[in-house]
Amino acid sequence: MVSTVPPSIRTEAGAAGRQGQPFEAEADRTSPNRNLTPITTALDPEGRLTVGGCTLSDLARTYGTPLYVLDEATLRATCRAYREALEAAYPGPSLALYASKANSSLAISALVAEEGLGLDAVSAGELLTALRGGMPAERIVLHGNNKSREELELAVNQGVTVVVDNARDLELLAEIAPGRSEPVRLMLRFTPGIECHTHEYIRTGHLDSKFGFDPDQLEQVLRQLAQCPWARLDGLHAHIGSQIFELEPHRDLAGVMADALALARSLGHPCTDLNVGGGLGIRYVASDDPPSIQEWVAVVAGAVADACRERGLALPRLLCEPGRSLVATAGVTLYEVGSRKEIPGLRTYVAIDGGMSDNPRPITYQSRYTALLADRPTAVSEETVTVAGKHCESGDLLLKDIALPAIGSGDVLAVFATGAYNASMGSNYNRIPRPAAVLVHDGVAEVVQRREQPEDLLRYDVLPARFTPVP
Ligand SMILES: *Cc1c(COP(=O)(O)O)cnc(C)c1O
Repeated sequence: MVSTVPPSIRTEAGAAGRQGQPFEAEADRTSPNRNLTPITTALDPEGRLTVGGCTLSDLARTYGTPLYVLDEATLRATCRAYREALEAAYPGPSLALYASKANSSLAISALVAEEGLGLDAVSAGELLTALRGGMPAERIVLHGNNKSREELELAVNQGVTVVVDNARDLELLAEIAPGRSEPVRLMLRFTPGIECHTHEYIRTGHLDSKFGFDPDQLEQVLRQLAQCPWARLDGLHAHIGSQIFELEPHRDLAGVMADALALARSLGHPCTDLNVGGGLGIRYVASDDPPSIQEWVAVVAGAVADACRERGLALPRLLCEPGRSLVATAGVTLYEVGSRKEIPGLRTYVAIDGGMSDNPRPITYQSRYTALLADRPTAVSEETVTVAGKHCESGDLLLKDIALPAIGSGDVLAVFATGAYNASMGSNYNRIPRPAAVLVHDGVAEVVQRREQPEDLLRYDVLPARFTPVP
């Protein structure tokens, strides 16, 4: 880990490099999660930033701001990286499932389906989005620690695999599933006693987690499931955390899961699948140094293959569920700069036309980001400012103390690595409409999510008749 803290990637013009701005020539095209910007990031003849062949400030003018921009080439490269790394590193069959909570839309579902990946959904909304986006049901799994009857019915009716998380799931399934021509396909989630928080991990017998069965409950649940003719237990699932830079926890996880696999098979379950979850980290700021997709997959695949060989187990199909590392780097958010407040000797605030409603990660997790002026990306930094959102919340600060060229109203600011957990975690706080999203590819931009309008926000309000409505 590089531990210096350059909060921005601003470099002198021409001095770009891996620790600086990875414009097209410097980008790691095989593992986009290691870059700060999409792999197609380049400069147009006027020196303005382009992504997917589209000049960012032109996109801002055409589609308005805030605007989510998604680079198709980066998304596809990442899907391929997972698929090809699994094929290269794992001696058995494999499938990467996109954890769609990171960014759920019809377009992303369609693109990921086209690339041959599967998808994990956590709600009826994500499930519907995946199915309507063209993701085949047999490549979808439904997660959730409190699935409703309706969500389970939708999954079972569509032939989606259900990841059983708790006893309540089993109660509901026992009411829904019997009497069908085919048994319901299930996976079982358990807490493996490995927990990760980016730079550390703990290994215990029991985890304080709301997800999955405790390891102590596993055998009893497996025995119970063996008595359910309506159920077919296809595999086991565990997920140990997110934005992880370490590889050892995944090595440990393989052993724990292989033990559970041996137990499940000894009780008569087919258990052909082992799903090791997601969690690979990405580079948000220059000092972040995540492993590549290839390194992560090699460790996971090698550890699962070794653990199975040691226990004399037939190789399962290996599933993994990347979310963040699959979509984050493909995303850029464009904002227009508005007001400015200088507090002499203290701080300068520069406000943009979005904030915590379109990117709640800084206020929620103190997350850091990298940003550039869309039209002056290589200009020398002249001031250190704090980029603030427009919401009524003092903590609505998008970038703290970032070095930028002189910045003023009308400038377009590009914030990178916003493809994951931005749109999907967004809100309408302060009744601010959600941004549009465009997919860029070879100089063409296509709207994949229309901009919400203030009128849209009133659609579900009901004014009782005793109030006099405004005509
Ligand atoms: C969140 C989550 C993922 C994806 O995690 P990332 O860190 O975004 O890769 C995968 N599986 C499950 C069950 C999750 O909850």
